[in-house]
Amino acid sequence: MKLLNHLDAFITEETRLFGEILLSRSPVSNHFLATHRKDGDCHHDMLERLTTVQEVRDLAKFDEHGEYRPLKTAPSLKSGWLIEESDIESFYLKIDAIYPAGFAGTVKYLEKAVDPVPLRRTLDRQTGMYQFAKNITDTQANQIMRDTCAKGCLRKIAWPLDEQCAVSHLPEPGRKIPIICLEACTFAVSEARRLAREAYDKANALS
Ligand code: SF4
Repeated sequence: MKLLNHLDAFITEETRLFGEILLSRSPVSNHFLATHRKDGDCHHDMLERLTTVQEVRDLAKFDEHGEYRPLKTAPSLKSGWLIEESDIESFYLKIDAIYPAGFAGTVKYLEKAVDPVPLRRTLDRQTGMYQFAKNITDTQANQIMRDTCAKGCLRKIAWPLDEQCAVSHLPEPGRKIPIICLEACTFAVSEARRLAREAYDKANALS
């Protein structure tokens, strides 16, 4: 099934949650609708209509305090807006501007068309100053998943720790459509480097 057909099939009159976005279809016009989850009960006239992809990109750039959002799946998307489209392609492009490659990754994962990359393979590939990241222990890796990923990101991790670990299979989406993390991002790699470096410096200071 094509990506756009998947999105079309996911969106019904009953709202579904994708990250912080509520997706639904208008029972009156049959248009595709998206709002921030905080605005689920707001009258649409009270929300700012985002009519171009650039407007949506601009929205996703900064949080409500004006701080830059380097990680687009951080739980800090501004509220107060509405996307309404009659065609699925225009709608998809706007959703993709909020969570780049988010829906495409989820569909690939659900179709088993892509293998999540084990964390250790990602770390082993690092070069330059990031090479140090490969020295993290399993405990530190779990710390990254708990403190960096689970607290600061809406993606659901599908990658295993190493080649020996089984890939986790997340359940079929219900009301919530997960944004799947198929490979550790630069934030997780940076954190791995920081933790490994800290442990190394501590060990050397003691010796
Ligand atoms: S590794 Fe994945 S889940 Fe963790 S912060 Fe990066 S994108 Fe989010």
